[in-house]
Amino acid sequence: VPAGILHDVRYDEPVLAVDVGGTKLAAGVVTPQGVLVGHRRRPTPVTPDAEVIWTALAELIGTVLTEYGRPAAAAGIGCGGPMSWPAGEVSPINMPAWRGFPVRTRVADLLTGGTGHREMGPVRLHNDAICVAVGEHWRGAGRGVPDVLGMVVGTGVGGGLVLGNRLIDGASGNAGHIGHVLAESDGRVCGCGARGCLEGIARGPAIVQQAQEDGWTGEPTGVALASAATAGNPLALAAYARAGRALGVAIASAVNLTDVSLVTIGGGVIQTGPSLLDPLAQAYADRARLPFSRRPRVLPAQLGQAAGLVGAAALVLRGDRYWSGD
Ligand SMILES: [Zn+2]
Repeated sequence: VPAGILHDVRYDEPVLAVDVGGTKLAAGVVTPQGVLVGHRRRPTPVTPDAEVIWTALAELIGTVLTEYGRPAAAAGIGCGGPMSWPAGEVSPINMPAWRGFPVRTRVADLLTGGTGHREMGPVRLHNDAICVAVGEHWRGAGRGVPDVLGMVVGTGVGGGLVLGNRLIDGASGNAGHIGHVLAESDGRVCGCGARGCLEGIARGPAIVQQAQEDGWTGEPTGVALASAATAGNPLALAAYARAGRALGVAIASAVNLTDVSLVTIGGGVIQTGPSLLDPLAQAYADRARLPFSRRPRVLPAQLGQAAGLVGAAALVLRGDRYWSGD
């Protein structure tokens, strides 16, 4: 541990928050109360050069801190996985230029100006879906609820698990990875190589692919397919129903395993509405039959795109709840 790092479990200054994804980079400043007071985003450069992406991220951070008007001494980072955690060397699946990229160290160096001399607070990193779950638990739909599974259903399916008001990390920081829970024993092959994972069925591109395989000839985008479902197109409805059922099955399994009382779901795919959510609710009701597992509520996430930044900052601001990495 470098000299000068504070070991307070809670942190009482505004924190730089960073969210690194395959399609966008985001940075902002979050107050100790969990309010995002300024933020910016930009597309992730499409390049095989790791340093080009880093330069874009460093410029974005510089812009945010300049607009905020004062330096930040601590940072929380959410990033797509996989990663070595807590070391923070990241290899996001949808960002091939970064393989073992030391983003946690790079952000720490950036905040100290590379000298290591300025007194600094913690710089911490976690999986981006975990940061969304933490954000929703701290300041969103899960506020005040001790036991929550927070999920994101978009281009991927991810999640994070909070039990007894503590983020559960697991042996390698990967607890709560609901995207790779089995949802159909004979389902599609997932990007991880296994068959039947929730993510392989319910991620947005998989839903579109399912519709195309069934004969859908419309524009191959989630937006077009969602409007077709709303208009009653049977191929679109069937594709969303299959994804909704997979979500309901996986969530029922997760609730039986963890006894959470609330599941929050965010992400673009959820905006589809009843054509996804009704089959989800039906499958959940069919599969969660014990008194404790029938009870949990499934609610939409509240923080929207701010959740990832607020949750990343919470790794520092509420380290007593959300950080056990080092
Ligand atoms: Zn998988």
